[in-house]
Amino acid sequence: MSTFANTLIEWQKQHGRHSLPWQGTNDPYAIWVAEVMLQQTQVMTVIPYYQRFLEAFPDIECLAEASLNTVLTLWSGLGYYSRGRNLHKAACLIMERSQGRFPQHAAEIAQLPGIGRSTAAAIAAFAYGERCAILDGNVKRVFTRYFGITGYPGEKKTEALLWQKAEGLLPQENAQQQMATYTQALMDLGAIVCTRHQPKCLNCPLQPDCIAFAENRVASLPTSKPRKPLPSKETTFLILRNQDEILLEQRSSPGIWGGLWCLPEKPIDINSQTYCKQCMGIESVTISSLPPLNHTFTHFKLRIHPQLLQVINYPRKKTATKIWLTIDRALQLAIPVPVRKILLELTSSNRF
Ligand code: SF4
Repeated sequence: MSTFANTLIEWQKQHGRHSLPWQGTNDPYAIWVAEVMLQQTQVMTVIPYYQRFLEAFPDIECLAEASLNTVLTLWSGLGYYSRGRNLHKAACLIMERSQGRFPQHAAEIAQLPGIGRSTAAAIAAFAYGERCAILDGNVKRVFTRYFGITGYPGEKKTEALLWQKAEGLLPQENAQQQMATYTQALMDLGAIVCTRHQPKCLNCPLQPDCIAFAENRVASLPTSKPRKPLPSKETTFLILRNQDEILLEQRSSPGIWGGLWCLPEKPIDINSQTYCKQCMGIESVTISSLPPLNHTFTHFKLRIHPQLLQVINYPRKKTATKIWLTIDRALQLAIPVPVRKILLELTSSNRF
């Protein structure tokens, strides 16, 4: 076995994490759910969501049979909702194409919606001991430092070099027995030792051969993404009040917050009452404006101006994508984080 793999495996056994809720199983479904939830999300945030999700959907069949709405309700607050939509879509595909049998190799797993090469490799390594390399954000950080590689890891050339390194370092002997521990070791090292800020180099098992450490370049690696300022947009969210109820609309999918329940949105430069009358057939009067709030997506920033309006003479209709409900009930639906914040602000400030 390579010294690198051997060192990491021995380190993981003594110092790595062993009691996370998704460890100690080789059920590919449970591992898949965890790996998808862990994308761009901290372990401590994921744990309660993971436990609730597995309780509600203990296997692929249960997930496929659930409505997307139920899946997104359990996902609400975890962010990056396309992950929840893709999990559901993939479960339906697995039921349809292979009667619920999860794919057995990383290359097949990577064909499922929402699963990239690294996630597929992690699932295959944990579930089947397949000898395949992972390269998530944490592992990229470890490798760029260990090998002293400059260049933003998201750039094709740098990424290709990192994949080459990742494959070259895999355990060679008894790989099937070692892959789960080796893969976990890489994840653990990136998460608890070779951290973005203040890495614990003095406790790191890779330190004797780490180029960044030897050359005092740890703080400058990995190379940062070339910065382009994010564009910003402004919008108005309408809180239409009818007695003790408000109106929520389900967003179309795909799209931002697709499938989630949201407050009606209108362009900032159109008068709210005019918009309600002309575009929604609702007569209303404006009561007040709430403090604006900011929300950052990966590709733009959104400044939201919430406005509270009282509805007058509106026939209270329910359709598949529009519902009137109390704030308490709205908070139980799959709603985006800014909508949740607005509703909580409304109740805590006694404006409603
Ligand atoms: S020595 Fe420091 S920089 Fe190098 S791999 Fe270990 S923690 Fe990361």
